[in-house]
Amino acid sequence: MSSIITSLPLTSLIQQLRSGELRSVEVTTTYLDAIADRDAALGAFVHVDREDALQQAADADARRSAGQANGLLAGVPVAIKDVLCVTGQPATCASRMLKGFVPPYDATAITKLKQAGAVLVGRTNMDEFAMGSSGENSAFGPTRNPWDPERIPGGSSSGSAVAVAARLAPLALGSDTGGSIRQPASLCGIVGLKPTYGRVSRYGLIAYASSLDQIGPFATDVVGAAILLEAISGHDPRDSTSVNLPVPAHSQSVDQPLAGLRIGVPVEHFAEGLDAEVERTVREALAVYKSLGAELKEIHLPHTKYAVATYYLIATSEASSNLARYDGVHYGHRAEEFGGSLISMYEASRGEGFGDEVKRRIMLGVFALSAGYADKYYTKALQVRRLIRGDFDAAFQEVDVIAGPVTPTAAFKLGEKTSDPLSMYLSDIYTISANLAGIPGISIPCGFTSTGLPIGLQLQAAPFEEERLLRVARMFERETEWHLRQPASTL
Ligand code: GLN
Repeated sequence: MSSIITSLPLTSLIQQLRSGELRSVEVTTTYLDAIADRDAALGAFVHVDREDALQQAADADARRSAGQANGLLAGVPVAIKDVLCVTGQPATCASRMLKGFVPPYDATAITKLKQAGAVLVGRTNMDEFAMGSSGENSAFGPTRNPWDPERIPGGSSSGSAVAVAARLAPLALGSDTGGSIRQPASLCGIVGLKPTYGRVSRYGLIAYASSLDQIGPFATDVVGAAILLEAISGHDPRDSTSVNLPVPAHSQSVDQPLAGLRIGVPVEHFAEGLDAEVERTVREALAVYKSLGAELKEIHLPHTKYAVATYYLIATSEASSNLARYDGVHYGHRAEEFGGSLISMYEASRGEGFGDEVKRRIMLGVFALSAGYADKYYTKALQVRRLIRGDFDAAFQEVDVIAGPVTPTAAFKLGEKTSDPLSMYLSDIYTISANLAGIPGISIPCGFTSTGLPIGLQLQAAPFEEERLLRVARMFERETEWHLRQPASTL
């Protein structure tokens, strides 16, 4: 019975909750039991408050029985990345630095989820402060890929991706600064979407790199991602970068195919370093669109080769500034023992509180911003960022969406890249440009390697074209069954 509930497509789950065929308490209990049974081996959750989740579910059921207005996600459990503030729930960003922090307020995305009637079922593991591509940089220990527990699930939203892939939650929220939703979605065989910068309020999202961060949905299918995106989108006066545009009714429009579709295939995304099996699978996915009447057009994104360097200058510069607040006084862990001076207190507190990757990023960022170097590194990176955006603006004059791989390889082994940060950074090569340009991108399942590891297809669209992106993604999903496959342990 339990795997029947956890295998339901989101639309069926919503429908059965609406009709009263299923109660939220029953659904939530099923997921909580699945977490209790299977998460010890996966490490997807860092905090689950069973009683609180069941209370939220009982409230949702009571609202339904009383005939009160039913939100888009009434009674549906949603897992939350440990980077988002929820009143009364610990938020640690998987860092010792924030151990014991309990936010007194809700992120706007969380307020909207609550208004939509969702049940917040638990907090998910991640790379510390969202810095990483493998889920291994967590103070709670790594998350494992449900398709092969010896392999990484991707990062930084490792726990959110695994929660959905392993059917421990039907939906999850993550954050994407350089690929942290799309990359783990791809490596775990589910759908993950990074919205346009400004589409979803960042209020209450603990900052990594503020000009790149966006909150977005994970789901097992495109329709699920569309519904969750609709629930969390919209203008918010509390985030000056959130944009005042109407929120499209994705749940209504997602099933409408697009006629006369032009798909751009960037030569630079099929270059050196791309695994042959991934390339073949992605090209087969493109052939599906062709068979649906889409025109495939070769395009160029000439500044792609600078994207990794540009990103790792801008993201680390912003991070070094954002993370300066964790000094053991204003915020964060304070060392018990230190030399006695203020500086030694800072040093000891930050030295104990932050993990190695976070320290590396802070050092890179401080260097890139330092007097004498800022023009050469930070300012230069901003200029190149503009050129990268220009590549996309030019491409979208000719095509409706851009398609290609999400990652150069399928999931790698735990520990394989931990001693080589550069090769870890290179695994973000196809995802980070979207953050630099501020455009939306989605990863959808498009096949498997011969050893049974999932492969994703990335689609990207012009700013605020999420509706088009979702409709194009759904066209593929309707023709294929990749999204229906589940890891054996979940059946
Ligand atoms: N892997 C990238 C990084 O480590 C992206 C992380 C993210 O999107 N949060 O910075």
